[in-house]
Amino acid sequence: MTTKQVTRSTFDEVMVPTYSPSQIVPVRGEGSRVWDQEGREYVDFAGGIAVTALGHCHPVMVKALTEQANKIWHLSNVMTNEPALRLASKLTDATFAERVFFANSGAEANEAAFKLARKYAYDNFGPEKNEIIAFTNSFHGRTLFTVSVGGQPKYRIGFEPAPGGITHVPFNDIEALKAVISERTCAVVMEPIQGEGGILPATAEFAKAVRELCDQHNALLVFDEVQSGMGRSGSLFAYMEIGVTPDILSSAKSLGGGFPIGAMLTTNKVAASFGFGSHGSTYGGNALACAVAESVLDEINRPSVLEGVKRKHALFREALEAINAKYHIFKEIRGMGLLIGAELVEPYASNAKAFIGAGAEEGVMILTASTNTLRFAPSLVIPEEDIKEGMARLEKAIAKMVSQ
Ligand SMILES: *Cc1c(COP(=O)(O)O)cnc(C)c1O
Repeated sequence: MTTKQVTRSTFDEVMVPTYSPSQIVPVRGEGSRVWDQEGREYVDFAGGIAVTALGHCHPVMVKALTEQANKIWHLSNVMTNEPALRLASKLTDATFAERVFFANSGAEANEAAFKLARKYAYDNFGPEKNEIIAFTNSFHGRTLFTVSVGGQPKYRIGFEPAPGGITHVPFNDIEALKAVISERTCAVVMEPIQGEGGILPATAEFAKAVRELCDQHNALLVFDEVQSGMGRSGSLFAYMEIGVTPDILSSAKSLGGGFPIGAMLTTNKVAASFGFGSHGSTYGGNALACAVAESVLDEINRPSVLEGVKRKHALFREALEAINAKYHIFKEIRGMGLLIGAELVEPYASNAKAFIGAGAEEGVMILTASTNTLRFAPSLVIPEEDIKEGMARLEKAIAKMVSQ
């Protein structure tokens, strides 16, 4: 079989139209710079949507991947493997958790989390305790259970009937949660920083009150840290930054630094409800994925890198404020660490997506969150020169947008 030349237009011929990707087709990356098929170079502020936490092709990841690739790739869950055991040991050493379940994505880590919360309540309190409370605008993935727990109906409409026993209340509104939580609640699920919803951090006060309400009603607190975790907040996980510890935590995105992996972390007590045969995944805990994630965790979980995230947050914020002082385009700049949102004022707020294309034309890759917010989720080790250069390019893009 001969291989034909592929271009962006091939996408429209052979892919299911679930995405509408950029006209750029990147072919190579190094650190926070990316090159496309035409040889044009970009500064990467998108990080593959908060995934490439060490930038592109970081030497420690390349080493871990190639070394493991020459040893053994896959064994299935009939046998365990050294990278999975090492990664699980390091994750439990570094967090509240005592047990780990590996999956391949954020949605799968959450699917495991929600199933475990149900099973724990079933085992300990009976089948009536099955209700899950989640928050408006939250995002937890695209499987049927995770779009149902997620608080954005647009991802659910057309796929019903959806799983039942799920209630949504407004985020950062403790009275709303108080009004619906009961002895039937098995779990409250939240993102410490809502990512897709628009980079909206939970207040520490809210998170503490949620924890207390969960304890009063024997409900588990599930933190979806798929986007906020693995150093992005400036702590290894955002729960550490907020000072509220969950019972179950899901991680993915930056955990693999670009290699697919997800993990669900929990305590001994809760993990006991995931007994032999109760859940599983063929690829979950794959040796290649775990070897890469181990190298990512080793690299990120160091004071110098985590302090760097906080310093770079300040650089991003200063640069965005300087742009705003000139163009008056942002209503609010918010977020934690290197997960930053800049909400646009009208008339730009309804067209945040246009800034992605405008940025690309000037050589900077950015993201949006919700419909009205520019999102920055770059490599946690992005060089300061790249922040400066990317911001100069972003300013050019914004100047063009404003003059239109
Ligand atoms: C991206 C994301 C997910 C889904 O992760 P996938 O790997 O795409 O399945 C779940 N929760 C949050 C908070 C996310 O940002």
